[in-house]
Amino acid sequence: MGWAVYNEPRTKNRPVARQPVHLTAIYPGSFDPATNGHLDVIERGSKLAGRLIVAVLRNESKQPLFSTAERMEMLAEVVRPFPNVEVASFDGLLVDFASQCQASLILRGIRAISDYEGELQMALMNRRLRPEIETVFLMAGEQYSFVSSRLVKEIFRLGGDVSGLVPPAVACRLRERMASV
Ligand code: ADP
Repeated sequence: MGWAVYNEPRTKNRPVARQPVHLTAIYPGSFDPATNGHLDVIERGSKLAGRLIVAVLRNESKQPLFSTAERMEMLAEVVRPFPNVEVASFDGLLVDFASQCQASLILRGIRAISDYEGELQMALMNRRLRPEIETVFLMAGEQYSFVSSRLVKEIFRLGGDVSGLVPPAVACRLRERMASV
């Protein structure tokens, strides 16, 4: 026979998804700060790749609310439940960093059509620079389709409730940060 069916191992009658262990993916972004939308993409990505690197862009020129180190600390706490997810930071060309990490996939999240144009442009440029690296788009749960770091910061600044939009560790940091300004 030219084919075979592999029976997935099962726990409590639930099929266990198998990640291609050889595959490293990179999820780049500003994460200023990480939101539950990011977390949803991370969780989905952790099931697709054997190793997922969440890579914080060191973009101090964008005047982020949180420093790179703070953004990484928050992410490290948020990804703790996922053993195959790591946090790193980078500057310069994303594809060069991906290549250094031997990543063959770039993960990005798409919320709405408005994200699509910029993401497509970036994906095609990255493909031109390094054709061997593929960009994959993931859709977070629809309950996060309106969640962005920018909006979370704005709501928080104006005294709105951000619980449910960001992980508790991030909400705590936001409170500390806003209290000190
Ligand atoms: P950047 O500054 O590079 O856009 P972000 O930290 O805002 O980085 O986001 C990183 C990636 O995560 C982007 O691909 C963005 O579209 C995606 N993303 C952010 N928030 C969400 C969300 N709520 N649902 C799905 N994808 C998201």
